[in-house]
Amino acid sequence: MDVYILAIESSCDETSMAIVKNGKEVISLVIASQMDTHALYGGVVPEIASRMHTEAITMVLEETLKKAQMKIEDMSAIAVTCKPGLTGSLIVGIEAAKTLALMYDKPLIGVNHLIGHIYANNIENEMEFPMLALVVSGGHTELLIMEDDYKFKKLGETLDDAIGECYDKVARVLDLKYPGGPNVEKLALEGEHNYDLPHPVMDDTYNFSYSGLKSAVINLVHNSKQRGEEINRADLACSFQEVAIDELTRKVEKAFRETNIKRLVVAGGVSANKYLKGEMQKLCDKYEAQLLIPRLLYCTDNAAMIGAAAYPLYLRKEFSDFSLNASSIGDI
Ligand code: AMP
Ligand code: MG
Repeated sequence: MDVYILAIESSCDETSMAIVKNGKEVISLVIASQMDTHALYGGVVPEIASRMHTEAITMVLEETLKKAQMKIEDMSAIAVTCKPGLTGSLIVGIEAAKTLALMYDKPLIGVNHLIGHIYANNIENEMEFPMLALVVSGGHTELLIMEDDYKFKKLGETLDDAIGECYDKVARVLDLKYPGGPNVEKLALEGEHNYDLPHPVMDDTYNFSYSGLKSAVINLVHNSKQRGEEINRADLACSFQEVAIDELTRKVEKAFRETNIKRLVVAGGVSANKYLKGEMQKLCDKYEAQLLIPRLLYCTDNAAMIGAAAYPLYLRKEFSDFSLNASSIGDI
């Protein structure tokens, strides 16, 4: 029998719901973004985010059902992001999911947002195991081996800042608008790698480090301002991006060499970056490996990926009870 999962995502500044059939087919997807509001403040304001989720969630539910021409009664389960994310934002989605599960007597499935980003790769492609998974988001930078559904072995993670956070800070110091990542990428296209920025040197481990690079960019801009010197913003954006992504490619290359795994999936908001995609493709060509990166719609936060990640849990009947709660942390 076909499995229809109604999935809810509200971990940051997008209120999203989707109906996903058998973990793969997106029957409907609605994303209400708060981006324009948070852009006024230069970043996500948690209190505003949770209030806006509350305001949007009923409309998003109605729209999702209408688009699919389905009813909640038709659903097999209700899935929801429960970690990691902004606690106040997560709670709005979790309470909605609990209410629907209780009212319509449906199983409830709590999903890790980062695992959701990985399963976004299973929507239009087929994930095959074992594979390497590179998670690059606003709060996380992790390299994992995924041996099977929900079977992870962490190789390494960032010891300080996440790559997405670093993009956002660099954007701010370069006077680029929120959200920073896409704007740094755009500006970098106009520049060249002319600034000598520090590469983290930790070649013996799979861990990442971004705070040194971030501080170097911030200091360079501040020092130039103090001396009244003009900086070439496009060159600095390009130099930053190349060093930041090089840190990822070096660790993935090490993993290709040492594990002999021939598959790589990239997940999380930063996977929307075209330069990253190009560099990973070159690396995969060199090691004759398969590369999966979701299409743009599924790279950024969306509920379809939560429906995809909930499916293996549904099959295994790994349901949550009504004590399900939000957590701001939640590494894989
Ligand atoms: P997530 O935490 O998975 O929701 O992803 C959000 C993060 O991805 C933010 O830090 C964004 O700046 C970053 N991001 C989104 N698009 C891009 C891009 N094209 N290039 C670099 N970073 C990006
Ligand atoms: Mg995300």
